[in-house]
Amino acid sequence: MNEIKIETICLHEGAVTDKQYKGAISPIYMSTAYQFNDVEKKRYPRYINTPNQQCVSEKIAAIEKGEAAIIFGSGMAAVSASLLSHLSSGDHVVFYNDIYGGTRNFVKKEFKRYGISYSFSSGPNLEDFKACIKENTKGIYIETPSNPLLKIVDMEAISKLAKSKNLWTMIDNTFASPVNQNPIDFGIDIVIHSATKYLGGHSDISAGAVISTKNRIEKVYELAKSLGGTLSEFSAWLLERSIKTLPIRVRQQNENAMELANFLNEHSLISKVHYPGLKSHENHKIAMKQMNGFGGMLSIELNSNVNPEFFLKNLKIIKPVMSLAGIESTANYPKSTSHFSLTDEERKSQGISEKLIRLSAGIESVTDLKNDINNSLKISLDEN
Ligand SMILES: *Cc1c(COP(=O)(O)O)cnc(C)c1O
Repeated sequence: MNEIKIETICLHEGAVTDKQYKGAISPIYMSTAYQFNDVEKKRYPRYINTPNQQCVSEKIAAIEKGEAAIIFGSGMAAVSASLLSHLSSGDHVVFYNDIYGGTRNFVKKEFKRYGISYSFSSGPNLEDFKACIKENTKGIYIETPSNPLLKIVDMEAISKLAKSKNLWTMIDNTFASPVNQNPIDFGIDIVIHSATKYLGGHSDISAGAVISTKNRIEKVYELAKSLGGTLSEFSAWLLERSIKTLPIRVRQQNENAMELANFLNEHSLISKVHYPGLKSHENHKIAMKQMNGFGGMLSIELNSNVNPEFFLKNLKIIKPVMSLAGIESTANYPKSTSHFSLTDEERKSQGISEKLIRLSAGIESVTDLKNDINNSLKISLDEN
């Protein structure tokens, strides 16, 4: 049989069939109470098995090429349930240094009380991870491309290293989205998404997802039921609707980001562009190997005479917001938003400068986006 492609999976896989009226789309089942006798399954929202929750989970498992998936009320609910269900007191875990700020906070603040120890790799290269592995290490947790510098970790190399030491691997695949990268193809065990970002894509849903083998998902599920980070049926329905357009959204975002990266790379008021699609990116070759597209995220370093706060204020189309990955283009100043909770030392260790701006490319006309950035750069020069 021919393999079904992601565009078709996004549209058709995991729909609730409307048997009563034969409507074209999935009906929403808002019930929190379901009959329990003579049924194959005891349904309840916190068990993550109501009709809309179950169907969108099947869709997400299929697009990430996993056996099973579960969904959550936020990305952090997915991150925390995945990690805690795979770790016990006395265990050690290796994290990539440049992980999402919220995940880093969770690890630093909460792991101590569970008796779990951890190390942050000094960089994205295989040797940096190897150096952190100890006798009691149970797993490796990565993110690629990373936030906000779009550094690339070689998924295949990490999964080989982990397998040789009998460790599990987890990846936060939020930035790439399943359109640009399927980590399971490279041997990664557990894939996590903040579905608040590309999977949702319209800046109107908070959700998370974990995709893996049936066995591992069962393990995460047992804890998830107790932690209770439930996704509402309405959000599950919105998520299903949103994923239908995931491939065309993300491809346009890839295209716009690539064009912006090339344009800004030549701009006299920008000192550096971080984008894995640029040949000058230090891990462009690894990105070529593991990504189908280079994503909608890029970051830029403004020249010393451009004021980052003025630059954000003077943008007319691109909105300065905390989040990312929506169909509207947005900009963010990591130092005072996404990476605010990090110490100066931690920001420095991740290479996050005072002049760094992160951009999330939307689906507007790229000409308008270029003009918006160009105009704002010109009027945001420091007076002195
Ligand atoms: C936003 C984000 C998260 C957390 O997701 P929430 O839905 O905000 O809980 C985790 N990882 C990455 C890479 C993110 O961008």
